[in-house]
Amino acid sequence: MKKDDIVTLKIEDFSTEGLGIGHSEGLTLFVKDTVIGDVAEVKVMKMKKTYGYARLLRILTPSPDRVEAPCPVARPCGGCQLLEMKYEAQLRFKEQKVRNNLQRIGGFTDPPMEPIIGMESRVMQNRSMSDDSACVLDSRGESGQGMDHPFRYRNKAQFPISRDKNGKLIAGFYAGRTHTVIDCRDCLLGAKVNQTILDIVLNHMEKYHIQPYDEVTGRGLVRHVMIRVSSEALCEENASGQIMVCVVINGASLPESGRLVQDLCAIPGMTSITLNINRERTNVIMGRQIKLLWGQEFIEDTIGGIRFRISPLSFYQVNPRQTEKLYGKTLEYADLTGQETVWDLYCGIGTISLFLAQKARAVYGVEIVPDAIRDARQNAQLNHITNAEFFVGKAEEVLPEKYEKEGIHADVIVVDPPRKGCEQSVLDTMLKIRPERIVYVSCDSATLARDLKYLCADGYELKKVCPTEMFANSCHVETVALISWKETVADVFGQ
Ligand code: SAH
Repeated sequence: MKKDDIVTLKIEDFSTEGLGIGHSEGLTLFVKDTVIGDVAEVKVMKMKKTYGYARLLRILTPSPDRVEAPCPVARPCGGCQLLEMKYEAQLRFKEQKVRNNLQRIGGFTDPPMEPIIGMESRVMQNRSMSDDSACVLDSRGESGQGMDHPFRYRNKAQFPISRDKNGKLIAGFYAGRTHTVIDCRDCLLGAKVNQTILDIVLNHMEKYHIQPYDEVTGRGLVRHVMIRVSSEALCEENASGQIMVCVVINGASLPESGRLVQDLCAIPGMTSITLNINRERTNVIMGRQIKLLWGQEFIEDTIGGIRFRISPLSFYQVNPRQTEKLYGKTLEYADLTGQETVWDLYCGIGTISLFLAQKARAVYGVEIVPDAIRDARQNAQLNHITNAEFFVGKAEEVLPEKYEKEGIHADVIVVDPPRKGCEQSVLDTMLKIRPERIVYVSCDSATLARDLKYLCADGYELKKVCPTEMFANSCHVETVALISWKETVADVFGQ
Protein backbone atom coordinates (compact mmCIF):
# COMPACT_ATOMS: atom_id res chain seq x y z
CA MET A 1 0.00 0.00 0.00
CA LYS A 2 1.32 3.45 -0.83
CA LYS A 3 0.40 7.13 -0.73
CA ASP A 4 -2.68 8.08 -2.81
CA ASP A 5 -3.99 4.50 -2.97
CA ILE A 6 -7.76 4.31 -2.58
CA VAL A 7 -8.93 1.55 -0.22
CA THR A 8 -12.25 0.32 1.17
CA LEU A 9 -12.13 -0.25 4.92
CA LYS A 10 -14.36 -1.31 7.78
CA ILE A 11 -13.63 0.79 10.85
CA GLU A 12 -13.21 -1.66 13.71
CA ASP A 13 -11.66 0.33 16.51
CA PHE A 14 -10.83 3.81 17.69
CA SER A 15 -7.45 5.23 18.69
CA THR A 16 -7.07 7.05 21.99
CA GLU A 17 -6.94 10.34 20.04
CA GLY A 18 -10.26 9.55 18.39
CA LEU A 19 -9.14 8.33 14.95
CA GLY A 20 -10.99 5.40 13.37
CA ILE A 21 -8.89 2.27 12.88
CA GLY A 22 -9.30 -0.18 10.00
CA HIS A 23 -7.18 -2.93 8.46
CA SER A 24 -6.33 -3.65 4.86
CA GLU A 25 -3.73 -6.00 3.39
CA GLY A 26 -2.54 -6.73 6.92
CA LEU A 27 -1.79 -3.06 7.55
CA THR A 28 -3.45 -0.69 10.01
CA LEU A 29 -4.91 2.58 8.79
CA PHE A 30 -5.96 5.52 10.96
CA VAL A 31 -8.80 7.58 9.50
CA LYS A 32 -10.14 10.87 10.91
CA ASP A 33 -13.91 11.57 10.91
CA THR A 34 -14.96 7.93 10.97
CA VAL A 35 -16.97 5.98 13.53
CA ILE A 36 -16.58 2.32 14.60
CA GLY A 37 -18.80 0.28 12.27
CA ASP A 38 -18.49 2.56 9.20
CA VAL A 39 -17.51 1.02 5.89
CA ALA A 40 -15.61 3.78 4.12
CA GLU A 41 -13.62 4.59 1.04
CA VAL A 42 -10.37 6.26 2.09
CA LYS A 43 -7.27 7.67 0.42
CA VAL A 44 -3.85 6.88 1.88
CA MET A 45 -1.99 10.05 2.90
CA LYS A 46 1.10 8.65 4.57
CA MET A 47 2.40 5.11 4.98
CA LYS A 48 4.89 3.74 7.52
CA LYS A 49 6.01 0.10 7.70
CA THR A 50 2.98 -1.42 9.39
CA TYR A 51 0.54 1.45 9.64
CA GLY A 52 -0.52 4.63 7.92
CA TYR A 53 -2.94 7.55 7.86
CA ALA A 54 -5.76 7.93 5.38
CA ARG A 55 -8.33 10.61 4.55
CA LEU A 56 -12.03 9.81 4.43
CA LEU A 57 -13.39 10.08 0.88
CA ARG A 58 -16.90 8.78 1.45
CA ILE A 59 -18.90 6.59 3.75
CA LEU A 60 -20.17 3.53 1.88
CA THR A 61 -22.22 2.05 4.74
CA PRO A 62 -22.66 4.22 7.81
CA SER A 63 -22.18 2.72 11.27
CA PRO A 64 -25.44 2.29 13.25
CA ASP A 65 -23.77 4.63 15.77
CA ARG A 66 -23.18 7.42 13.23
CA VAL A 67 -25.11 10.68 13.52
CA GLU A 68 -24.91 13.96 11.72
CA ALA A 69 -22.55 16.22 13.68
CA PRO A 70 -24.66 18.91 15.32
CA CYS A 71 -21.87 21.49 14.92
CA PRO A 72 -20.88 23.29 11.71
CA VAL A 73 -17.14 23.12 12.41
CA ALA A 74 -17.09 19.56 13.76
CA ARG A 75 -14.55 18.26 11.25
CA PRO A 76 -12.02 21.09 10.96
CA CYS A 77 -12.03 21.94 14.68
CA GLY A 78 -9.71 19.85 16.83
CA GLY A 79 -11.81 20.10 19.99
CA CYS A 80 -14.43 17.36 19.67
CA GLN A 81 -13.48 14.03 18.12
CA LEU A 82 -16.72 12.13 18.76
CA LEU A 83 -19.41 14.47 17.47
CA GLU A 84 -20.38 12.08 14.69
CA MET A 85 -21.02 9.30 17.21
CA LYS A 86 -24.27 8.80 19.12
CA TYR A 87 -23.86 9.81 22.73
CA GLU A 88 -24.60 6.29 24.00
CA ALA A 89 -21.84 4.96 21.75
CA GLN A 90 -19.43 7.62 23.06
CA LEU A 91 -20.02 6.33 26.57
CA ARG A 92 -19.44 2.72 25.53
CA PHE A 93 -16.22 3.78 23.77
CA LYS A 94 -14.94 5.54 26.89
CA GLU A 95 -15.76 2.65 29.19
CA GLN A 96 -13.93 0.32 26.83
CA LYS A 97 -10.95 2.67 26.63
CA VAL A 98 -10.53 2.59 30.41
CA ARG A 99 -10.96 -1.20 30.52
CA ASN A 100 -8.42 -1.69 27.70
CA ASN A 101 -5.81 0.48 29.38
CA LEU A 102 -6.25 -1.28 32.71
CA GLN A 103 -5.88 -4.64 30.99
CA ARG A 104 -3.07 -3.83 28.56
CA ILE A 105 -1.00 -1.34 30.55
CA GLY A 106 -2.09 -2.21 34.09
CA GLY A 107 -2.12 -5.98 33.66
CA PHE A 108 -5.51 -6.28 35.43
CA THR A 109 -7.22 -9.14 33.59
CA ASP A 110 -10.73 -8.40 34.81
CA PRO A 111 -10.78 -4.88 36.25
CA PRO A 112 -13.63 -4.31 38.76
CA MET A 113 -15.42 -1.72 36.64
CA GLU A 114 -18.59 0.13 37.55
CA PRO A 115 -20.70 1.48 34.67
CA ILE A 116 -19.59 4.89 33.38
CA ILE A 117 -21.35 7.89 34.94
CA GLY A 118 -22.63 9.59 31.78
CA MET A 119 -24.23 12.98 31.32
CA GLU A 120 -27.92 13.33 30.76
CA SER A 121 -28.61 13.57 27.06
CA ARG A 122 -30.02 16.81 25.68
CA VAL A 123 -33.47 15.30 25.41
CA MET A 124 -33.44 14.29 29.06
CA GLN A 125 -31.89 17.58 30.08
CA ASN A 126 -34.60 19.55 28.36
CA ARG A 127 -37.22 17.41 30.01
CA SER A 128 -35.72 17.62 33.49
CA MET A 129 -35.11 21.33 33.18
CA SER A 130 -38.53 22.08 31.75
CA ASP A 131 -39.31 24.30 34.73
CA ASP A 132 -36.25 26.40 33.97
CA SER A 133 -36.65 27.78 30.50
CA ALA A 134 -33.30 29.57 30.68
CA CYS A 135 -31.61 26.17 30.52
CA VAL A 136 -33.32 24.93 27.38
CA LEU A 137 -30.58 24.56 24.84
CA ASP A 138 -30.52 26.35 21.54
CA SER A 139 -32.06 24.76 18.51
CA ARG A 140 -28.91 24.31 16.42
CA GLY A 141 -28.62 20.71 15.36
CA GLU A 142 -32.02 19.77 16.77
CA SER A 143 -33.19 18.68 13.32
CA GLY A 144 -30.39 16.12 12.97
CA GLN A 145 -30.27 12.84 14.81
CA GLY A 146 -27.41 14.19 16.87
CA MET A 147 -29.78 15.72 19.36
CA ASP A 148 -28.74 13.47 22.20
CA HIS A 149 -25.28 15.06 22.52
CA PRO A 150 -24.81 16.96 25.78
CA PHE A 151 -23.82 20.58 25.14
CA ARG A 152 -23.25 23.83 27.03
CA TYR A 153 -21.47 22.05 29.87
CA ARG A 154 -18.00 23.65 29.81
CA ASN A 155 -17.48 26.49 32.26
CA LYS A 156 -14.13 27.53 30.78
CA ALA A 157 -12.82 28.28 27.30
CA GLN A 158 -9.58 29.75 26.03
CA PHE A 159 -10.00 31.28 22.60
CA PRO A 160 -6.89 32.06 20.53
CA ILE A 161 -7.18 35.34 18.59
CA SER A 162 -5.91 35.52 15.04
CA ARG A 163 -6.68 36.79 11.52
CA ASP A 164 -8.22 34.80 8.70
CA LYS A 165 -6.90 34.73 5.11
CA ASN A 166 -8.64 38.03 4.38
CA GLY A 167 -7.14 39.74 7.39
CA LYS A 168 -10.37 39.69 9.42
CA LEU A 169 -9.96 39.25 13.18
CA ILE A 170 -11.17 35.86 14.35
CA ALA A 171 -11.47 33.92 17.62
CA GLY A 172 -12.04 30.22 17.99
CA PHE A 173 -10.15 26.98 18.31
CA TYR A 174 -7.13 25.35 16.78
CA ALA A 175 -7.78 22.97 13.91
CA GLY A 176 -6.73 19.43 14.88
CA ARG A 177 -2.95 19.04 15.33
CA THR A 178 -2.20 22.56 14.05
CA HIS A 179 -2.19 26.12 15.33
CA THR A 180 -4.48 27.41 12.58
CA VAL A 181 -7.43 29.13 14.21
CA ILE A 182 -10.95 28.11 13.13
CA ASP A 183 -13.37 30.99 13.62
CA CYS A 184 -15.90 29.73 16.15
CA ARG A 185 -17.15 32.11 18.80
CA ASP A 186 -20.14 30.06 19.83
CA CYS A 187 -18.73 26.64 20.59
CA LEU A 188 -21.69 24.44 21.53
CA LEU A 189 -19.80 23.00 24.49
CA GLY A 190 -19.46 26.37 26.17
CA ALA A 191 -21.57 29.20 27.57
CA LYS A 192 -23.62 31.25 25.12
CA VAL A 193 -22.21 34.42 26.61
CA ASN A 194 -18.76 33.54 25.17
CA GLN A 195 -19.82 34.86 21.79
CA THR A 196 -20.99 38.21 23.16
CA ILE A 197 -17.70 38.64 25.02
CA LEU A 198 -15.55 37.71 22.02
CA ASP A 199 -17.50 40.07 19.75
CA ILE A 200 -16.82 42.90 22.18
CA VAL A 201 -13.10 42.11 22.42
CA LEU A 202 -12.65 41.80 18.64
CA ASN A 203 -14.58 45.05 18.02
CA HIS A 204 -12.34 46.76 20.53
CA MET A 205 -9.24 45.45 18.77
CA GLU A 206 -10.60 46.57 15.39
CA LYS A 207 -11.47 50.05 16.67
CA TYR A 208 -8.12 50.72 18.30
CA HIS A 209 -5.98 48.85 15.75
CA ILE A 210 -4.77 46.32 18.29
CA GLN A 211 -2.96 43.40 16.67
CA PRO A 212 -3.44 39.74 17.50
CA TYR A 213 -0.32 37.86 18.56
CA ASP A 214 1.50 35.98 15.82
CA GLU A 215 3.15 32.79 17.07
CA VAL A 216 5.60 32.67 14.18
CA THR A 217 7.00 36.20 14.51
CA GLY A 218 6.31 36.64 18.22
CA ARG A 219 4.77 40.04 17.39
CA GLY A 220 1.28 41.39 18.11
CA LEU A 221 -0.48 41.91 21.43
CA VAL A 222 -3.60 39.83 22.09
CA ARG A 223 -2.93 36.10 22.40
CA HIS A 224 -6.00 34.51 23.96
CA VAL A 225 -9.25 35.40 25.68
CA MET A 226 -10.00 33.13 28.62
CA ILE A 227 -13.58 33.05 29.84
CA ARG A 228 -14.83 31.26 32.92
CA VAL A 229 -18.41 31.24 34.15
CA SER A 230 -20.18 29.93 37.24
CA SER A 231 -22.67 27.07 36.94
CA GLU A 232 -25.63 29.45 36.86
CA ALA A 233 -24.14 31.55 34.07
CA LEU A 234 -23.52 28.38 32.07
CA CYS A 235 -27.23 27.76 31.75
CA GLU A 236 -27.87 31.04 29.96
CA GLU A 237 -27.04 34.66 30.39
CA ASN A 238 -28.34 34.38 33.89
CA ALA A 239 -28.04 37.52 35.98
CA SER A 240 -27.28 35.51 39.12
CA GLY A 241 -24.30 33.82 37.49
CA GLN A 242 -20.74 35.14 37.62
CA ILE A 243 -18.49 35.71 34.63
CA MET A 244 -14.70 36.12 34.40
CA VAL A 245 -12.86 37.49 31.37
CA CYS A 246 -9.08 37.36 31.21
CA VAL A 247 -7.31 38.78 28.15
CA VAL A 248 -3.87 37.23 27.66
CA ILE A 249 -1.46 39.76 26.17
CA ASN A 250 2.11 39.89 24.96
CA GLY A 251 2.79 43.26 26.59
CA ALA A 252 2.28 45.28 29.73
CA SER A 253 -1.07 46.90 28.95
CA LEU A 254 -4.02 46.94 26.58
CA PRO A 255 -4.80 50.21 24.73
CA GLU A 256 -8.03 51.90 25.84
CA SER A 257 -8.72 49.11 28.31
CA GLY A 258 -11.14 51.41 30.18
CA ARG A 259 -13.45 51.38 27.17
CA LEU A 260 -13.25 47.62 26.86
CA VAL A 261 -14.16 47.33 30.52
CA GLN A 262 -17.14 49.63 29.98
CA ASP A 263 -18.47 47.42 27.18
CA LEU A 264 -17.89 44.15 29.02
CA CYS A 265 -19.47 45.46 32.23
CA ALA A 266 -22.77 45.81 30.44
CA ILE A 267 -23.05 42.00 30.36
CA PRO A 268 -25.19 40.76 33.26
CA GLY A 269 -23.11 38.71 35.69
CA MET A 270 -19.73 40.23 34.74
CA THR A 271 -17.64 39.88 37.89
CA SER A 272 -13.96 39.83 37.02
CA ILE A 273 -12.00 41.44 34.17
CA THR A 274 -8.25 40.90 34.17
CA LEU A 275 -5.20 40.93 31.93
CA ASN A 276 -2.73 38.11 31.95
CA ILE A 277 0.80 38.99 30.90
CA ASN A 278 2.49 36.35 28.79
CA ARG A 279 5.56 37.54 26.87
CA GLU A 280 7.13 34.11 26.44
CA ARG A 281 7.65 32.58 22.99
CA THR A 282 5.80 29.44 24.02
CA ASN A 283 2.47 27.79 23.40
CA VAL A 284 1.67 27.73 27.11
CA ILE A 285 -1.45 29.88 27.14
CA MET A 286 -1.24 31.79 30.43
CA GLY A 287 1.67 33.72 31.88
CA ARG A 288 2.17 34.10 35.62
CA GLN A 289 1.14 37.70 36.15
CA ILE A 290 -2.47 38.85 36.52
CA LYS A 291 -3.48 42.55 36.38
CA LEU A 292 -6.93 43.42 37.63
CA LEU A 293 -8.82 45.75 35.25
CA TRP A 294 -12.20 45.74 36.92
CA GLY A 295 -14.21 44.01 39.66
CA GLN A 296 -12.52 41.29 41.68
CA GLU A 297 -9.81 38.84 40.70
CA PHE A 298 -11.98 35.76 41.10
CA ILE A 299 -15.45 34.34 40.55
CA GLU A 300 -17.37 32.01 42.84
CA ASP A 301 -19.18 28.77 42.15
CA THR A 302 -20.99 26.19 44.25
CA ILE A 303 -20.58 22.43 44.02
CA GLY A 304 -22.40 20.08 46.36
CA GLY A 305 -23.26 22.92 48.74
CA ILE A 306 -19.65 24.13 49.06
CA ARG A 307 -18.78 27.57 47.73
CA PHE A 308 -15.50 27.96 45.86
CA ARG A 309 -13.62 31.03 44.73
CA ILE A 310 -11.61 30.55 41.58
CA SER A 311 -8.74 32.76 40.38
CA PRO A 312 -7.71 32.97 36.71
CA LEU A 313 -4.60 30.83 37.20
CA SER A 314 -6.24 28.16 39.34
CA PHE A 315 -7.42 24.85 37.99
CA TYR A 316 -11.12 24.15 38.34
CA GLN A 317 -12.98 21.19 36.83
CA VAL A 318 -14.63 22.26 33.55
CA ASN A 319 -17.91 20.38 33.81
CA PRO A 320 -19.70 21.42 37.00
CA ARG A 321 -22.72 19.15 36.44
CA GLN A 322 -20.45 16.10 36.41
CA THR A 323 -17.91 17.37 38.95
CA GLU A 324 -20.41 16.89 41.74
CA LYS A 325 -20.84 13.25 40.67
CA LEU A 326 -17.06 12.78 40.35
CA TYR A 327 -16.43 14.15 43.84
CA GLY A 328 -19.36 12.12 45.18
CA LYS A 329 -17.74 8.95 43.84
CA THR A 330 -14.37 10.00 45.30
CA LEU A 331 -15.98 10.50 48.70
CA GLU A 332 -17.78 7.14 48.43
CA TYR A 333 -14.50 5.36 47.66
CA ALA A 334 -12.70 7.22 50.49
CA ASP A 335 -15.31 5.65 52.83
CA LEU A 336 -14.71 8.06 55.71
CA THR A 337 -16.14 7.77 59.21
CA GLY A 338 -14.99 11.11 60.61
CA GLN A 339 -11.86 9.74 62.31
CA GLU A 340 -9.47 9.66 59.37
CA THR A 341 -6.44 11.68 58.40
CA VAL A 342 -6.60 12.27 54.67
CA TRP A 343 -4.09 13.68 52.17
CA ASP A 344 -5.35 15.24 48.95
CA LEU A 345 -2.45 15.49 46.50
CA TYR A 346 -2.77 17.80 43.45
CA CYS A 347 -5.61 19.55 45.27
CA GLY A 348 -6.09 22.66 43.09
CA ILE A 349 -8.31 25.15 44.94
CA GLY A 350 -9.12 22.51 47.56
CA THR A 351 -12.32 21.24 45.99
CA ILE A 352 -11.91 17.55 46.83
CA SER A 353 -10.17 18.42 50.12
CA LEU A 354 -13.16 20.41 51.36
CA PHE A 355 -15.59 17.70 50.24
CA LEU A 356 -13.53 15.21 52.25
CA ALA A 357 -13.05 17.50 55.25
CA GLN A 358 -16.74 17.28 56.08
CA LYS A 359 -16.32 13.56 56.77
CA ALA A 360 -12.70 13.35 58.02
CA ARG A 361 -10.76 14.27 61.16
CA ALA A 362 -8.17 16.25 59.19
CA VAL A 363 -7.36 16.86 55.54
CA TYR A 364 -4.04 18.06 54.09
CA GLY A 365 -3.91 19.36 50.53
CA VAL A 366 -0.82 19.76 48.32
CA GLU A 367 -0.73 21.82 45.13
CA ILE A 368 1.97 23.40 42.97
CA VAL A 369 0.20 26.65 41.94
CA PRO A 370 0.44 29.31 44.69
CA ASP A 371 -2.73 31.15 43.56
CA ALA A 372 -4.68 27.90 43.83
CA ILE A 373 -3.48 27.34 47.40
CA ARG A 374 -4.45 30.92 48.25
CA ASP A 375 -7.92 30.10 46.87
CA ALA A 376 -7.99 26.81 48.79
CA ARG A 377 -7.29 28.55 52.12
CA GLN A 378 -9.93 31.19 51.39
CA ASN A 379 -12.38 28.47 50.39
CA ALA A 380 -11.92 26.68 53.70
CA GLN A 381 -12.68 29.95 55.52
CA LEU A 382 -15.59 30.79 53.25
CA ASN A 383 -17.21 27.47 54.16
CA HIS A 384 -16.20 27.57 57.86
CA ILE A 385 -14.12 24.42 57.44
CA THR A 386 -11.35 24.35 60.04
CA ASN A 387 -9.87 20.86 59.66
CA ALA A 388 -8.19 21.40 56.28
CA GLU A 389 -4.63 22.63 55.83
CA PHE A 390 -2.88 23.38 52.54
CA PHE A 391 0.73 23.28 51.35
CA VAL A 392 2.21 24.89 48.23
CA GLY A 393 4.72 22.72 46.40
CA LYS A 394 5.27 19.75 44.18
CA ALA A 395 3.58 16.61 45.48
CA GLU A 396 6.79 14.71 44.71
CA GLU A 397 8.72 17.03 47.03
CA VAL A 398 6.21 17.90 49.74
CA LEU A 399 5.03 14.35 50.46
CA PRO A 400 8.48 12.68 50.80
CA GLU A 401 9.73 15.63 52.84
CA LYS A 402 6.75 15.54 55.21
CA TYR A 403 7.12 11.79 55.54
CA GLU A 404 10.85 11.81 56.18
CA LYS A 405 10.96 14.86 58.49
CA GLU A 406 7.62 14.54 60.28
CA GLY A 407 6.72 10.90 59.76
CA ILE A 408 3.25 11.91 58.67
CA HIS A 409 0.43 9.44 58.76
CA ALA A 410 -2.53 8.96 56.40
CA ASP A 411 -5.53 6.67 56.55
CA VAL A 412 -6.62 7.65 53.08
CA ILE A 413 -4.74 9.40 50.27
CA VAL A 414 -6.54 10.95 47.31
CA VAL A 415 -4.51 11.84 44.22
CA ASP A 416 -5.77 13.77 41.20
CA PRO A 417 -2.67 14.41 39.07
CA PRO A 418 -2.43 15.99 35.61
CA ARG A 419 -2.31 13.70 32.54
CA LYS A 420 1.24 12.55 33.07
CA GLY A 421 0.19 10.83 36.30
CA CYS A 422 2.14 10.63 39.58
CA GLU A 423 5.91 10.93 39.81
CA GLN A 424 7.51 7.73 41.00
CA SER A 425 8.61 9.38 44.26
CA VAL A 426 4.96 10.10 45.08
CA LEU A 427 4.08 6.45 44.48
CA ASP A 428 7.08 5.27 46.54
CA THR A 429 6.21 7.56 49.44
CA MET A 430 2.59 6.40 49.38
CA LEU A 431 3.84 2.81 49.57
CA LYS A 432 5.89 3.77 52.64
CA ILE A 433 3.04 5.66 54.33
CA ARG A 434 0.78 2.74 53.44
CA PRO A 435 -2.70 4.28 53.86
CA GLU A 436 -5.58 1.83 54.07
CA ARG A 437 -7.09 3.25 50.90
CA ILE A 438 -5.84 5.27 47.95
CA VAL A 439 -8.41 6.93 45.72
CA TYR A 440 -6.91 7.83 42.37
CA VAL A 441 -8.80 10.41 40.25
CA SER A 442 -7.36 10.51 36.75
CA CYS A 443 -7.88 12.32 33.46
CA ASP A 444 -5.68 9.84 31.57
CA SER A 445 -6.47 6.17 32.00
CA ALA A 446 -3.13 5.11 30.47
CA THR A 447 -1.03 6.75 33.20
CA LEU A 448 -3.64 5.68 35.76
CA ALA A 449 -3.15 2.05 34.68
CA ARG A 450 0.65 2.45 34.83
CA ASP A 451 0.54 3.88 38.37
CA LEU A 452 -2.01 1.36 39.66
CA LYS A 453 0.14 -1.46 38.35
CA TYR A 454 3.09 -0.09 40.34
CA LEU A 455 1.07 0.26 43.54
CA CYS A 456 -0.66 -3.10 43.19
CA ALA A 457 2.65 -4.89 42.66
CA ASP A 458 3.54 -3.86 46.19
CA GLY A 459 0.65 -4.83 48.43
CA TYR A 460 -2.37 -2.92 47.15
CA GLU A 461 -5.40 -4.42 45.46
CA LEU A 462 -7.61 -2.77 42.85
CA LYS A 463 -11.11 -2.75 44.33
CA LYS A 464 -13.25 -0.51 42.13
CA VAL A 465 -13.00 1.62 39.01
CA CYS A 466 -15.60 4.11 37.85
CA PRO A 467 -15.19 6.00 34.55
CA THR A 468 -16.92 9.37 34.71
CA GLU A 469 -17.91 11.59 31.82
CA MET A 470 -16.39 15.05 32.11
CA PHE A 471 -15.69 15.86 28.46
CA ALA A 472 -18.71 14.80 26.39
CA ASN A 473 -18.06 14.71 22.61
CA SER A 474 -14.30 14.58 23.05
CA CYS A 475 -12.38 11.33 23.42
CA HIS A 476 -11.17 12.14 26.93
CA VAL A 477 -12.52 10.36 29.97
CA GLU A 478 -12.10 10.86 33.69
CA THR A 479 -11.78 7.83 36.00
CA VAL A 480 -11.94 7.25 39.76
CA ALA A 481 -10.22 4.14 41.10
CA LEU A 482 -10.00 2.67 44.59
CA ILE A 483 -7.14 0.53 45.78
CA SER A 484 -6.94 -0.93 49.28
CA TRP A 485 -4.10 -2.34 51.30
CA LYS A 486 -4.19 -6.10 51.05
CA GLU A 487 -3.68 -7.60 54.48
CA THR A 488 -0.67 -9.88 54.40
CA VAL A 489 0.35 -12.70 56.70
CA ALA A 490 3.06 -10.40 58.06
CA ASP A 491 0.40 -7.76 58.86
CA VAL A 492 -1.60 -10.27 60.87
CA PHE A 493 1.21 -11.95 62.81
CA GLY A 494 3.79 -9.16 62.77
CA GLN A 495 7.35 -9.75 61.74
N1 SAH B 1 -8.22 18.03 42.53
C1 SAH B 1 -8.37 19.31 41.92
C2 SAH B 1 -7.33 19.64 40.85
C3 SAH B 1 -6.98 18.55 39.87
S1 SAH B 1 -6.08 19.05 38.44
C4 SAH B 1 -9.76 19.48 41.35
O1 SAH B 1 -10.51 18.52 41.21
O2 SAH B 1 -10.14 20.63 41.05
C5 SAH B 1 -4.45 18.75 38.85
C6 SAH B 1 -3.81 19.79 39.73
O3 SAH B 1 -2.47 19.38 39.96
C7 SAH B 1 -3.71 21.19 39.13
O4 SAH B 1 -4.26 22.10 40.03
C8 SAH B 1 -2.21 21.42 38.94
O5 SAH B 1 -1.83 22.77 39.15
C9 SAH B 1 -1.63 20.53 40.01
N2 SAH B 1 -0.27 20.03 39.80
C10 SAH B 1 0.37 19.77 38.65
N3 SAH B 1 1.58 19.24 38.88
C11 SAH B 1 1.72 19.15 40.22
C12 SAH B 1 2.75 18.67 41.08
N4 SAH B 1 3.87 18.18 40.59
N5 SAH B 1 2.55 18.71 42.41
C13 SAH B 1 1.40 19.22 42.92
N6 SAH B 1 0.40 19.70 42.16
C14 SAH B 1 0.54 19.66 40.82
